[in-house]
Amino acid sequence: MTIASNLHQVEEILCQKSKEAKRHSEDIQLIAVTKAVDNESTKEIYQLGVKHLAENRPEGLLAKQAYLPQEDIIWHYIGNLQSRKVKQIINQIDYLHSLDRLSLAKEIEKRADEIVNCFVEVNVSGEMSKHGVSPEELTEFIEALEEYPKVRVVGLMTMAPLGADETMIHQNFADLRMFQQKLAVKNYSFAPCTELSMGMSNDYQIAIEEGATFIRVGTSLFKE
Ligand SMILES: *Cc1c(COP(=O)(O)O)cnc(C)c1O
Repeated sequence: MTIASNLHQVEEILCQKSKEAKRHSEDIQLIAVTKAVDNESTKEIYQLGVKHLAENRPEGLLAKQAYLPQEDIIWHYIGNLQSRKVKQIINQIDYLHSLDRLSLAKEIEKRADEIVNCFVEVNVSGEMSKHGVSPEELTEFIEALEEYPKVRVVGLMTMAPLGADETMIHQNFADLRMFQQKLAVKNYSFAPCTELSMGMSNDYQIAIEEGATFIRVGTSLFKE
């Protein structure tokens, strides 16, 4: 399989699934996760027309950015971000998918030149090993972000629990959507919360059914 045929397949599925879910495929943004591939493969997916790219380490992000054109790529940072590394990347990205603590918001406030579009990462399932704000703390956490004008909460992000079956994944994503909708109706200017970042190679089809507006796909695009 080539990257082109992988991409074609993912786009077909995206179209098909959105139709089944009675959604417009344009409302679901494919993000290519390039963390596990080299500069060449990243350039290839870009040249095939995928303009939303994601990395999960500052080093990877900066290396890819140095290699690729500067004009028309939307950069997503999807990994856990240590506060001391915020300054390396915060002015280089368009979306941060892993806001999960106020100390990180504080560091963003200090280091960002402009408003940063952030997803609050939610640990829907309550797995101990996982990053993310718990559902119980979510509203309070988001309301506290009003203190940081450089942080704009565009939506919520989650990862399905490891080893979850389909039913559990559906439930997880449906829960995230319910949290998102409850926040969106509050109409907070600092937290419009209209977007849902959920779904990876193994579960993006479920995520589309459950309302994802951004899906983050790596393996399915770059597998051999
Ligand atoms: C690696 C990663 C992805 C992509 O995972 P695949 O299974 O390769 O599609 C998506 N989101 C996050 C947060 C990741 O770390």
